[in-house]
Amino acid sequence: MSTFFSSKYDKLTPYTPGEQPQNMKYVKLNTNESPFNPSPKAQALAKEAIKNLQLYSDPVCGKLLDCVVKIYDVNRDEIMFVNGSDEALNFCVMAYCDDKTGAASADISYGFYPVIMSLNNVDYQTIPLKDDFTIDVNDYKNLGRTIFIANPNAPTGIALEPEAIEEIIKSNPNNIVVVDEAYVDFGANSCLPLIKKYDNVLVVQTFSKSRSLAGGRLGFVAGNPKLIQDLNTIRYSTNPYNINSVTMAAGVGALEDVDYFKSNCKTIAENRDYLVSGLNALGFNVLPSKANFVFAESNDISGLKLYQELKERGVLVRHFETGKIKNFNRITVGSKQQLDVLLNTIKEILKEKK
Ligand code: PMP
Repeated sequence: MSTFFSSKYDKLTPYTPGEQPQNMKYVKLNTNESPFNPSPKAQALAKEAIKNLQLYSDPVCGKLLDCVVKIYDVNRDEIMFVNGSDEALNFCVMAYCDDKTGAASADISYGFYPVIMSLNNVDYQTIPLKDDFTIDVNDYKNLGRTIFIANPNAPTGIALEPEAIEEIIKSNPNNIVVVDEAYVDFGANSCLPLIKKYDNVLVVQTFSKSRSLAGGRLGFVAGNPKLIQDLNTIRYSTNPYNINSVTMAAGVGALEDVDYFKSNCKTIAENRDYLVSGLNALGFNVLPSKANFVFAESNDISGLKLYQELKERGVLVRHFETGKIKNFNRITVGSKQQLDVLLNTIKEILKEKK
């Protein structure tokens, strides 16, 4: 740290993103990317957009708004696009947390939450999950804090039904509930309809997973028009051209290519079943996932050892060396071919251990 660095940030521990090795080709199952390329339409529109990169992008994101209102039951003033949903999450902290209003989330959830709380100097409470890694809705009632719920949760993959989240929203009428739906398209039910019913809920979605655009950095936040106005105030005060025009074009293609999106989500759900069966057959305990990853532990090998051994053999998964989850690994649901490599490699590792 330099002596110039603001004392505001001297205790900030930045987020550690999953490994993105550039030197070697791994079977990459560590950051929940899609095994499928962006849709052909997204690729074609992005290529076209490169020709006009001398111009600023549209700060209103008009074409994206045109598309999104055709797909979801939302109005233009209920949506704001963001540079990856991480940006939306930080904007929500900036807009709805301060000295008087702290924040809360589950103790085992997305690792970016504590970082943005610390960045914004917010009093942050973590609420323990139950022993089975599910949320107890009663713990979130009348909290008096801005609440962040990843649904499905990460890294567990476990989803709550919107009715359960609705109870939380109802019991916190004076606070915002942010529902982070990064993985919702793989089988969970969305809270999007709740934005019409409640003025204190925001739903955040990403194009990084189900729409194969992790490198494009695109997401959106949906909510009551007044909330979207708040968030636009933050956005226009931070980075008005937050979505670049190539990503914007790719996003339009990804939204328009509905069949491609649906078929990929279906394949991932099928591959997830295949992965779970394969892991169960190898003696793993796998949490019930509605996401494009599973969270699994073995009695025969520690989480860290399995992560290390897999990496040595060219397979990357995600391991968190923390508390209750350190025996687990989070494994992205890749293509069948990738999953076969993973399962065979695990088999080999377990055999060598015996
Ligand atoms: N929320 C959750 C729960 C995530 O796991 C991720 C991916 N790391 C994100 C949000 C952010 O995704 P992105 O910024 O790529 O949209």
